[in-house]
Amino acid sequence: MERGQVQHPLLDELLQWCHTFQLQGLVPDPASGKKGGNLSFRVGSGFITTPSGKPLDQLTREDLVRVTELDEASFRVHAVGRLPPTSEAFLHSYVYRERTETNAIFHGECALITENAHALGIPETERWQDYGTPALAYEVLKVLHKHPGTNCLVMKKHGELYLGKTMLEVGNTALAILAKARGL
Ligand SMILES: [Zn+2]
Repeated sequence: MERGQVQHPLLDELLQWCHTFQLQGLVPDPASGKKGGNLSFRVGSGFITTPSGKPLDQLTREDLVRVTELDEASFRVHAVGRLPPTSEAFLHSYVYRERTETNAIFHGECALITENAHALGIPETERWQDYGTPALAYEVLKVLHKHPGTNCLVMKKHGELYLGKTMLEVGNTALAILAKARGL
């Protein structure tokens, strides 16, 4: 972890989507004691993402973290910022590497969607894997290989990953799926 201030013209757009995710219930309400969800967009060979341990609607530009490199051997990422990156940063790394056309990844933890993946027609990982593990990343890659065109997948009993070319596209995908889930 290197201390420093992350600069990028799209930071405010990322923060807006963080607020929307919290407001819409796509991530757990911090008042419930649960936390989860993280959002990122691709920058060069890495990405800018949300930090660990702070509710999405309380984030400011200074909290955002730039992940510059994935260390495969230790399964850790190298990052610049004042807070550590989300504990699921390596998952974002793997998905960006797998999906070269993906420029943004939003991860929600919305029980309504996660529990209704089948009814919503969203591909799902075969089995639950612990948060922040290599096993979880491999489960996700299996789904991406099996469903090369999908822009959303569910990690069993955990949450959702939304993918796309722009943050607007990814955010709108998430909102459309949420609306569909509410209508079930
Ligand atoms: Zn998660």
